[in-house]
Amino acid sequence: MTGNAERDRFVWADLDRLRAEIRRMALDIPLADDLSVLGEPVAVAGRTAPNRLCACGEAGCDAAGNGAPGPLTVRRYTRFARGGFGVIRIEPTALRAEPGAGPPALCLTPATADAFAALARAVRAAAREACGRDVVLLLGLADPADAAEAERLAVPAGFDGVDAAHPERGEASAYPPADVQRALQAAREKRRAGATGPVMARGFTPLRHLAPHAAAGAVAEGVCDLAGFGRAALAYPGLARDVLERGALDPLRCCRACGACDRLRRAGEPAGCVLTDAEVYGSVYARMHRFSDARLRTEAGRCRVCAAPPCRAACPAGIDVPAFVSAFAEGDVGRAYAVLRRANPLPEMCSHLCPVGLQCEGACVETVLNGRPVPVRDIQAAVCRAARREGLVRPAAVPRAPAGRPVAVVGGGPAGIACAAALVGRGRRVVLLEGGDRLGGTPERVIPAVRLPDVQPEIENLLGAAREAGALEVRWGQTLGRTVRLETLRREFAAVVLACGVWQERALGPAAGAVDALTFLEEAKRGVRTSVPARVVILAGGDCAMDAARTARALGAADVFVLYAGTTADLHWHGAAEEFRSTGLHLLTLTEPLGYVTDAAGRLQGVRICRTLPGSAEAGGTRPCARVPDGESVLAAGLAVEAMGLEVDPALRAALPGVAFDARGRVAVAGDGSGRTSLDGVYAVGGLVNGGASVVQCIAEGLRAAEAVT
Ligand code: SF4
Ligand code: SF4
Repeated sequence: MTGNAERDRFVWADLDRLRAEIRRMALDIPLADDLSVLGEPVAVAGRTAPNRLCACGEAGCDAAGNGAPGPLTVRRYTRFARGGFGVIRIEPTALRAEPGAGPPALCLTPATADAFAALARAVRAAAREACGRDVVLLLGLADPADAAEAERLAVPAGFDGVDAAHPERGEASAYPPADVQRALQAAREKRRAGATGPVMARGFTPLRHLAPHAAAGAVAEGVCDLAGFGRAALAYPGLARDVLERGALDPLRCCRACGACDRLRRAGEPAGCVLTDAEVYGSVYARMHRFSDARLRTEAGRCRVCAAPPCRAACPAGIDVPAFVSAFAEGDVGRAYAVLRRANPLPEMCSHLCPVGLQCEGACVETVLNGRPVPVRDIQAAVCRAARREGLVRPAAVPRAPAGRPVAVVGGGPAGIACAAALVGRGRRVVLLEGGDRLGGTPERVIPAVRLPDVQPEIENLLGAAREAGALEVRWGQTLGRTVRLETLRREFAAVVLACGVWQERALGPAAGAVDALTFLEEAKRGVRTSVPARVVILAGGDCAMDAARTARALGAADVFVLYAGTTADLHWHGAAEEFRSTGLHLLTLTEPLGYVTDAAGRLQGVRICRTLPGSAEAGGTRPCARVPDGESVLAAGLAVEAMGLEVDPALRAALPGVAFDARGRVAVAGDGSGRTSLDGVYAVGGLVNGGASVVQCIAEGLRAAEAVT
């Protein structure tokens, strides 16, 4: 009885039928009716675990770019803690980062130790809050040889120890009891070999709601001291509480062995239970399906290779869309990628971030002819991924002898990177001044990893050779007005390109509990902010609103209210309205935030709001909305995230003496697209000029300025 068809029929309704099957197959799987043995304390890593149930984390592929735990990582483990597990073993973690080597995996280094400490604090706090006691927290290791070094970092970060062993578990087989039998056999052998410390057995998941009976049987007979649950815990984070408090599991919440979490993991996507945690992972899974190669090739075949293609005209970088789409349809990834790179030095970053409804896809004739555009962005993403996989992404060439005085580019975001790369390509030496310690600008700092995978490999590919050849120097920690002055740059360099972006969100007023969206997103991405209050308000208007809303939900907010004074059509973001179909996200358009309500200590209690009426079309596109008389009320909230749009920081403005600004407070530039400012030899591109437009728009401005400078 080992075929798949037999397996499909092998469903146990109750313990008696499982016992009969075990007897029939002469298996050695002890089953206990009484689960209370699983609630007994046990010594683990020098501490006393409150019960024998261990949540064993499996790779979540949701770490931040530097290997720090991301918001979804924190969410996953705090759910286990709330779910009553006495021991929590964090997924296998590396000690050395290998950028771009695979899916975003956890990596504990001195640079990420603070984020791991925040994870440990959040897990313990969740256990105390939900269960009134602590947990034993272990760090799993990707390489057992790292145990001593890992302990030196993990214990000060708040872990009780590291677990270098790979717990005994069954292999996925066609006959579930065989998995359990194998796992228990391995645990027995470990015990016989005189294992020091507690023995853990895993592999109970296939028994679904009867799994705790096998776990309790194994513990009661001394086969193991701990029962580990991997996928079972992922699907059913409250498993331990239900075992200990109700003495039973809900069959409908158990892992169904559908394999979707593994498919996400193999694709390098954030992995979780697609069925029981559909709100988070359902959309990730749908996106993975969206990017299937076979589907995209069929879609690419719909491109009509139009003359004077409107999609190309609507792409700020002017990518020859039909050329790369048809090359992809013909299976020529190398040609497709070459077309992309010719016009856009960062095509992969753009494939994640382009607001295509407003750009290439918005102009595609297929929308009119067939009801939907050619999915240009998805095809672009597939081309970039395939090019990387097939080793077709080659470092940009560097001319042999850069000539003339160097050019200064201020700001290492997409506009600055594109400009610097293009200048080098045109034979100029470039000094790139970056305020932080990483290139990538706003996308790198704030956009959640679930929406934008690590951008460093693409940037390194573009700039690495230029840096090695000495044509490009990057100076870190350089901020205009603080460490460097515009006058000095003008004296030292042939030209100065200002690409420092806009970082200041429009604020509603002071309140403890109000935060600007960029800070909020950056803290979440770095793993510094690991939780939010139950009710969060997002003051929308800018591009960050949807990212902030998603992040607030991922950090545990039960209700996220997105407030916007205008209509959905006016909302300036790149998300889709269907994102609001998930529970807990409430889009309140025609609702204007007026101010904060605080308590005597200045802490946020809520937001004063007023209903509005849609503005009139004659208002010149800005559509100001009128407030509804008596339409005021207060929306209670513990956190307000300001995402109403970006403006130039006054400190930066003060650091640009002699540079003219326009009526909107942005740097005024010549109308010819060159980025020339009112100061001779000074150019401006990106957010300073466009107020925070799309990444591809910023890249295009950077490229045009490079052309004007040379
Ligand atoms: S860069 Fe963006 S706008 Fe241009 S073709 Fe690609 S997806 Fe479309
Ligand atoms: S407009 Fe659409 S169909 Fe025409 S070339 Fe562009 S992607 Fe192809």
